[in-house]
Amino acid sequence: MSKIVFFCIPAHGHTNPTLDVVRELIARGHQVWYYSYNMLQEKIEATGATFISCDDYDMEQKLTPGDAARLGKDLAFSTQILVDTTLALDARICADMEQLKPDCIVADSMAMWGKAAAMKFGVPFVSSTTTFAFNRYSAKIMKQGIGDLLRMIVSMPKIGRHIKRLQDNGYPVKSVLDIIQNDDNTHTIVYTSPEFQPCSDTFSDKYAFVGPSIRPATEEIEKTHEHLIYFSMGTVNNDMLPLYRQCIAAFANTDYQVIMSVGHTVSIDEFGKLPPNITVAPHVDQIAVLQKADVFISHCGMNSVSESLYYGVPLIMLPQTSEQGGVALRVEQLGAGVKQAKTDAVSLLGAVTHVLSAQTYKQNAAAISEGFRRCPGAKGAADKILQVCENAELS
Ligand code: UDP
Repeated sequence: MSKIVFFCIPAHGHTNPTLDVVRELIARGHQVWYYSYNMLQEKIEATGATFISCDDYDMEQKLTPGDAARLGKDLAFSTQILVDTTLALDARICADMEQLKPDCIVADSMAMWGKAAAMKFGVPFVSSTTTFAFNRYSAKIMKQGIGDLLRMIVSMPKIGRHIKRLQDNGYPVKSVLDIIQNDDNTHTIVYTSPEFQPCSDTFSDKYAFVGPSIRPATEEIEKTHEHLIYFSMGTVNNDMLPLYRQCIAAFANTDYQVIMSVGHTVSIDEFGKLPPNITVAPHVDQIAVLQKADVFISHCGMNSVSESLYYGVPLIMLPQTSEQGGVALRVEQLGAGVKQAKTDAVSLLGAVTHVLSAQTYKQNAAAISEGFRRCPGAKGAADKILQVCENAELS
């Protein structure tokens, strides 16, 4: 029996794919501890893992709104928050690790304190990546200058000072690159297929592309028209009333059935009486909808795109962030959707007509779906983690 410790950031999208992996490990008789945040406690405990709350140590939750806006933009400040979080958790993690003596640490690629703890205690480490894996080849294709970004990080003296704080506390970190970058020697689980991952052949065999984790649908959607269009801008930045109004104007009284998920910020009352072919809800069972949908107008969150392609549904893509832009670019490269810059009613209707009339989008989405379904999934991820545990025992 192995003892495995998971670390994740407070985000459903980063946590969800790991839950089936935890379930699989526990089903095989292993023990799992999971460091996360209270908002995720219920989900994590439902897997059978022991939940450990990091809420009291989370520096991000203590930030003023102004400082929170600097996160991700100001690299020195982001490193400071990362180091502060790691050091705030230090005493707790040190005490726990000495007592638990885990066989393996699995940490989300953004929960850097997990990787730092693995380094400090010499525990075998597996990185868990819910977005695309990055190296210099994939970064180039995705047009993200990650190399430049990393060079900039190491060159900043302020960042050096924060790294020194980690070193002073016994973390063998030479530079911030050690914790934020996965090299070819880091065991890494990536929740996509080798076909969908850009440049997957440039990653070492330490990388396991296990495919997306798709939860089961909990209800059945009734298809009332020949074509069903699904519209959602995700669960985070979805306060987009003008865009929703354009969508309703585009499809009102057409031959399309339209289901729109608009989030909890916008009040459904704002839309007044809806045309009979359009349904609007704050949240829908997206998996159930995608099983019947013909096209998905999406913000291109990695989960939404994976779920759409898993069911062979082509996309009309309205990415809002650079990460979503990277995902949209990959879908476009593989011909399973179109990026849509104009979001007025006429353009949205035109995009749907185009994607539905050209069969290639659907065919290419189906090909990606087949690749996803060939992946080993949570079982493959569990195999990878247990292999790392076993190899450490042998060495
Ligand atoms: N989702 C859902 N119902 C909705 C809207 C979203 O179940 O009405 C789920 C969707 O299936 C996906 C997640 O919420 O798993 C959204 O994740 P994604 O990475 O696409 O975007 P984010 O919300 O993180 O921007």
